[in-house]
Amino acid sequence: MLDRLETIRTEALEALEAAQKKGREAIEELRVKVTGRKGELTSILKSIGTLPSDQRPLVGQLANKYKKEIESAIKKALESLEESGGSVCISGFDPTLPGRRLPSGTLHPVTKVMDEICAIFNRMGFSVAQGPEIELDFYNFEALNIPPDHPARDMQDTFYIDEKVLLRTHTSPIQIRTMEKIQPPLRIIAPGKVYRCDSDVTHTPMFHQVEGLMVDTNVSFADLKGILTHFIHEIFSSGTGVRFRPSFFPFTEPSAEVDIQCVICGGNGCRVCSQTGWLEVLGAGLVHPAVFRHVGYDTEKYSGFAFGLGIERITMLKYGIDDLRLFFDNDIRFLTQFK
Ligand SMILES: [Zn+2]
Repeated sequence: MLDRLETIRTEALEALEAAQKKGREAIEELRVKVTGRKGELTSILKSIGTLPSDQRPLVGQLANKYKKEIESAIKKALESLEESGGSVCISGFDPTLPGRRLPSGTLHPVTKVMDEICAIFNRMGFSVAQGPEIELDFYNFEALNIPPDHPARDMQDTFYIDEKVLLRTHTSPIQIRTMEKIQPPLRIIAPGKVYRCDSDVTHTPMFHQVEGLMVDTNVSFADLKGILTHFIHEIFSSGTGVRFRPSFFPFTEPSAEVDIQCVICGGNGCRVCSQTGWLEVLGAGLVHPAVFRHVGYDTEKYSGFAFGLGIERITMLKYGIDDLRLFFDNDIRFLTQFK
């Protein structure tokens, strides 16, 4: 009888190893066969009463010991199966199989272009400045030569938080915040989110701008033209035509709007450029003396230029994207094209 017990134990443990490779069902089957109600070990324990009395204690002891041992081995096997997520080949792990690649994310096209713009200006000695998105009326308007009754306020539909606090409508307040802290010469660009109460096919309530500012002695419109032309040639292509048109902004004088030759039709005229062959991409000008006075710069000594551009617009032209909403839909199929 003791030999029989020994055989059951050895066989059960061997069978368990094999069952572990097959999975949960095989282990369960083994458990029923050995320690179940009608299992081999259980039957021996039940039949102890029929044994000669001198054999009973030893057989009983050993049978109980093996039963416990097998039960705990089965429990362990089930647990390790659970940990491996139900995959059965724990000992059959094949390290030569190719791994499962995790899908990697991509930078948003707007982020990509923003980084590229920063890199181009970094190479020309501009450093990146930042400012708060929740801004004071003073920095967003007043210090930029836009007093409360100025008609230019109507050009920008503003989200007001209260009378004096708002969501910045452009990145220009960063100019003021920087000039308050730093004396010329300075060269900064300020990329960031801006907010306007506007939503249709070509406008979203939040979009991205890059603001640029250079102040020094003897900064002229020629510097502005040279730097912006170089920037456009870098971000699009070196052959892109550029033109400056007179315009108006309260914080620059003189002001200009900058057009590039249509990147879709090459200047021949198409739907995107309304058959004109030109696309407006940025606004710029020499900093208005009133702005310098607000930050205490000597207007006799210093001059400077500022410019601003919409990053979504540049991104759309650069990649030929025809719908602004694609940037904000978070559609993976769209976003993964910009690897
Ligand atoms: Zn065109």
